[in-house]
Amino acid sequence: MNLRTDPRIAISDDEGTWTYADLHARARRIAAALLSASGPDGERKDSRAGLAGERVAIFVSPGGHFVASFFGVLMAGGVVTVLSPLHPSREMLYFCEDAEVRTILVSPDLRPRLEQAAEGRRVLSTDEAVFSEGPMLDEGPSQAPDAPALQLYTSGTTGKPKGAVLTHGNLETQQRLLAEAWEFTERDTLLHALPLHHMHGLAIALLTALGAGATVRMLPGFDAKRIWSELPRATVLMAVPTMYTRLFNAFDEAAPDLRAEWQRGARGLRLATSGSAALPATLAERWQIIAGAIPVERFGMTEIGVGTTNPVHGARKPAHVGLPLPTVRTRIVDDQGQDAEVGELWIAGPSVFSGYYKRPDATRDAFVPDATGERWFRTGDTVTRDADGYFKILGRTSVDILKSGGYKLSALEIEEALREHPAIREVAVVGVPDENWGDRVVACVVAHEGRAGECATELVRTFAKQSLAPYKVPKQVVLMTELPRNAMGKVQKPELTKQLLAEET
Ligand code: ATP
Ligand code: MG
Repeated sequence: MNLRTDPRIAISDDEGTWTYADLHARARRIAAALLSASGPDGERKDSRAGLAGERVAIFVSPGGHFVASFFGVLMAGGVVTVLSPLHPSREMLYFCEDAEVRTILVSPDLRPRLEQAAEGRRVLSTDEAVFSEGPMLDEGPSQAPDAPALQLYTSGTTGKPKGAVLTHGNLETQQRLLAEAWEFTERDTLLHALPLHHMHGLAIALLTALGAGATVRMLPGFDAKRIWSELPRATVLMAVPTMYTRLFNAFDEAAPDLRAEWQRGARGLRLATSGSAALPATLAERWQIIAGAIPVERFGMTEIGVGTTNPVHGARKPAHVGLPLPTVRTRIVDDQGQDAEVGELWIAGPSVFSGYYKRPDATRDAFVPDATGERWFRTGDTVTRDADGYFKILGRTSVDILKSGGYKLSALEIEEALREHPAIREVAVVGVPDENWGDRVVACVVAHEGRAGECATELVRTFAKQSLAPYKVPKQVVLMTELPRNAMGKVQKPELTKQLLAEET
């Protein structure tokens, strides 16, 4: 995984701009400092062996310093792991311990947030003089395609986050395939406001754009008004569904002339994408009205990067995640391990990760070898495919596929139907363990302001019966002020089910 060296602008952040050459020079200084003798153990690293796969944590605000730190660790032969200000300090400590991190690169303003994670670790601040004036690493260790480059933690939607180890080859494959599929060039400017500790913001967005020599406009965080106002200078926007919701809320509150200006910005984009969670049809339609086309929805995971995407040219199908990227091989497999119309998505190919760090059992469970020696990764997602080969995600087998009264139901499909209800703002459908039903279908809803009264169980059931088969209609509707979501805006369903069970007893 290499960084280009051209004198063109790679990053524009709130401090200014960085060319690829600037970032490359700084990364070489960071690499040299990482290999120098000031570690907690005082040892000097041999620059040909480098850090030899040691995990180095980056806790750096979005922008040029982040990118230089990322490539500096790789140049020194280390493996990057990313911490986020969105992590509570307890979680930060978990990631540092799990990954056996000995060195942390940190932005000066984030330094105090490290708390306990800093204890016993070498902490290098990105404003250290050696990073702007110190010696540069000439030649670091070679980077074999199967050498680990990145240890990213899964979102923890279904359990404790697992450290997925991605190799240089995985990241390079991903970078090339996505740049081709999404037609990235040096003329692009990506507007970036996604968290950097997940696959989406880090590899799918940032690394794809940098690999193509594009410019990345990095915002310090998500701010809907800022995004709207920056759109005229961007060609590509990548977002998660909750970001689209927040963009539309800001749009609705804006004055008409501002709205017209924002709309012109959106119309000027070449591409807007959505992923990380299912994009509700209502949001896709809204974006189409404003920007002229629905977002390109794609399916991805920490473990594989992007697996399937709708095409940039050609049919973008709402509620579908498109076709596999080149080199991504897919199977749909039923409970008996047979190929089926509906079942678990299995994936193989050069973008699939190598395994979970220090979790041989989880790694073994995640892969199924076939007779040809191919290792198939079990995604844990239940999917189906239409006549054109477009995939549709029915949900995570463990939390979104409910077994109720002998039927298998997709929570995502029920959510999509309930979102059509005029009083419902947000909805998450879960299965609560129940003696009679197996999973009792419960809809947790957030109502639009002043409309909670319309969300009573019987009223919502009557509405749902118009579009859903009777066995899919929720047995109960629970009103909430907000849904528990993680940094990527994903609803934490195990958390929700736990809350519901606690309230019942
Ligand atoms: P954990 O593995 O820790 O339980 P997670 O699976 O949410 O958490 P990620 O790797 O960040 O962690 O997310 C991948 C998952 O996100 C996929 O397996 C899929 O369920 C969901 N996902 C991603 N893109 C889409 C999409 N376009 N539509 C529906 N679901 C999606
Ligand atoms: Mg997962």
